[in-house]
Amino acid sequence: MSEDRLRYERKLVWDSLAKKEERKEVFDFADGYRQFLSAVKTERETVNWTKKTAETKGFRPLFPSSPLVGEGRGEGGKLYLPNRSYGFGLVVLGKKPLSEGFRLIVSHIDSPHLDLKPQPLIEEEALGFLKTHYYGGIKKYHWVANPLSLHGVIILKDGTKKEILVGEKESEPVLTITDLLPHLAKEQMEKKMSEAIQGESLNLLIGSLPVPKKKEDDNKKEATRVKGALLKLLYATYGITEEDLVSAEVQAVPAGTAKDLGLDRSLILGYGQDDRICVYTSLQALFQIKQPEYTAVCLLVDREEIGSEGVASAKSTFLRYFLGRSSGLGEAQMNESFAKSYAISGDVNAGLDPAYKDVSESQNAPRLGYGTVLTKFTGHGGKFSSSEVSAEYVAYLRRLFEKHKVFWQTGELGRIDKGGGGTVAKYLAQQNLETIDIGPALLSMHAPYEVSHKADLYSTYRAYLAFYRS
Ligand code: MN
Ligand code: MN
Repeated sequence: MSEDRLRYERKLVWDSLAKKEERKEVFDFADGYRQFLSAVKTERETVNWTKKTAETKGFRPLFPSSPLVGEGRGEGGKLYLPNRSYGFGLVVLGKKPLSEGFRLIVSHIDSPHLDLKPQPLIEEEALGFLKTHYYGGIKKYHWVANPLSLHGVIILKDGTKKEILVGEKESEPVLTITDLLPHLAKEQMEKKMSEAIQGESLNLLIGSLPVPKKKEDDNKKEATRVKGALLKLLYATYGITEEDLVSAEVQAVPAGTAKDLGLDRSLILGYGQDDRICVYTSLQALFQIKQPEYTAVCLLVDREEIGSEGVASAKSTFLRYFLGRSSGLGEAQMNESFAKSYAISGDVNAGLDPAYKDVSESQNAPRLGYGTVLTKFTGHGGKFSSSEVSAEYVAYLRRLFEKHKVFWQTGELGRIDKGGGGTVAKYLAQQNLETIDIGPALLSMHAPYEVSHKADLYSTYRAYLAFYRS
């Protein structure tokens, strides 16, 4: 055999997409994704979008109308079940019964953001602010001096839901967190990056108009007339009082739409691509399949960015509940089913950034534009906390991807001992599910604007589609 055929080399996806139609398909797919990213910025919005879209694709709710046992089996039955407002399960029943196993892709719908505190509203120096508590792994300096929008809900005592969405439309105002001017930042600039911006100073500037001055205000030290005016505004707009903010989930996220990036439009710049790029690609793949051999399952989970805690996280028992009720299988058969199944943790990896090469190991770091990334293990400090997948499963996927012409590359998260990270893979593995990480590499991961490559986006979709059809 010639030497060339013995070497493994990753290939640029574009080199394999020679035809004009193929390239157009990649760009068209990316257009849909970009619109999705612009429209969906929170967990709740992802759940709402998924429900609405799934219904147009022929999925029916598992409850309350569906008879539970065996419905649709053999006919490509498509069912869904939201997990509160933070998670979502979808299933396309396969030709084989669920007891023979299933094909599962799990991705997470939470992204780093700023949550409002339970009592957020303050006034200082005649300026009104909302105090926030940051969620997930952020670099705090990313969140100052940028336009931010507010997304969320306020649940009144009687259960009424008030939706808040401000700062996305051209006609709407935005909010911001102020930063120190360089002229007076001598001390700040000498601090460690992690200490230069304090979590407690991430306060959203939301107004400056006071209520009219009353006589008795003259004697009060802290009249907080701007806060008074803001409370009146909140009441007029949403019918809420300050106490109602206690039962609210409102988050600040970067305002504005996702964009094509680059003069050649080959990349995408947008908020929340970790991990909504895997949410979108796994859903699009699921929507494509009619009647797979094995039951195809798509699961959207929350709270990955803070350790997969909570009822709608990957540690929740929701998956067993959802599949049990979809199939009518009992506990013992369900155990059988899990043991025979294959799972993908759909999540992003860190692409090699030419500006920060020293944190990656060149031979094993994933690159943008070389296809979706197959990550055999994650973890840190000697693969600690990783649920490394078997060589057999990797070989199975190599075979599958070759057959379906899926462009893929291997990946490791950073140079050894430079840090590290994990995904939901290990929590799925704890349920006796063979699980591997597959998803695209990003640049600027966890920044307000993350970068993805359109060919990797498309390759991820193709990989998930091939997996569901296997
Ligand atoms: Mn992620
Ligand atoms: Mn993340």
